[in-house]
Amino acid sequence: MEKIDRSYLRYLRYAIQWSIFFFLIYAGYNFYLFVDYFSSDEVGAPLIPPVSRPPSVEGFLPIGALMAFKLWLTTGIFDRIHPAGLVIFIAAVMMSLLLKKSFCGWICPVGALSDLTWKLGKRLFGRNFTIHRFADYPLRSLKYLLVLFFIYLIVVKMSPLEIFTFLEEEYYRIADVKMLYFFTKMTLVTFITLLILFLTSLFFKNFWCRYLCPYGALLGILSLCSPLKITRNEDACIHCERCTKNCPAALPVGDKVRIKSPECTGCLTCVSHCPAKGALDMSFSKRRILNPLIFAVLIIGLFFGAIGIGKITDRWNSAVTYEQYKRIIPQTSILEHPR
Ligand code: SF4
Ligand code: SF4
Repeated sequence: MEKIDRSYLRYLRYAIQWSIFFFLIYAGYNFYLFVDYFSSDEVGAPLIPPVSRPPSVEGFLPIGALMAFKLWLTTGIFDRIHPAGLVIFIAAVMMSLLLKKSFCGWICPVGALSDLTWKLGKRLFGRNFTIHRFADYPLRSLKYLLVLFFIYLIVVKMSPLEIFTFLEEEYYRIADVKMLYFFTKMTLVTFITLLILFLTSLFFKNFWCRYLCPYGALLGILSLCSPLKITRNEDACIHCERCTKNCPAALPVGDKVRIKSPECTGCLTCVSHCPAKGALDMSFSKRRILNPLIFAVLIIGLFFGAIGIGKITDRWNSAVTYEQYKRIIPQTSILEHPR
């Protein structure tokens, strides 16, 4: 057997994932300062905030982005209230159609946090636990049921006119502020729910992503179309099972020839652990292998390329004015969800 060491793929992914994570923490802090400035209803205060609003926080509004996506596809109207959210959503969809669920494995900050939590649990307790497959399968279906519910509500039930009306409501204009308050003005119920999620994520690998995340479920379904899949070459494989043991999605990589599962995030962890040259790769087919570094470049290129196009075509910054923020933000807690 010819040996190979591709552990650098793991470090490359961590570097990308955590750079995005810390960038979003910084963006979140700036958004906090921005909202805080407009929270006061002081008369006569200047309208220029100390920091500008970071559009990237709209990435945390995937349900609004799904609505905006339908509106865009059916009418050509591009949401002007949270355009960055729609750009990020389109990037995630494109990535899933072409490059497996790589948005979850390489970009998503929740995925990064989830990864860190189960590794912390492993260090603390010496191991992670697995849920028996009789419970695992029904539990995994929860996230697909959730996403089907949203698809039914938004794609099937809501007309483009209803979506357009919703996206222009004052409620949607400050949906990002409401998301911020979800964390900064946390209720006891939210705190307890997050604590339970954290504790379960210590014991079970990627608990949130595996069982509950509807965004990941949607991207997983789309990733079934991806021409690229993790592919094992039986002739070169030495059956060491390192790929199976290290797969964060608990997929039986060492037993399959092609991984077609919607749970595969394209994280390349299995490839990075495989010691046998030519045994495991991201491939178009059994013979048409894609260099894993090119796979990583494509992920970054597609994600940041979409953001770049959004900026160049003026579909990145929100059309909500400072006057509107000043008027609406102090009313955030009393603004009701439109029926
Ligand atoms: S099969 Fe490989 S690429 Fe897919 S999730 Fe598992 S480790 Fe990541
Ligand atoms: S494909 Fe999996 S089982 Fe085969 S050599 Fe690589 S890590 Fe070991």
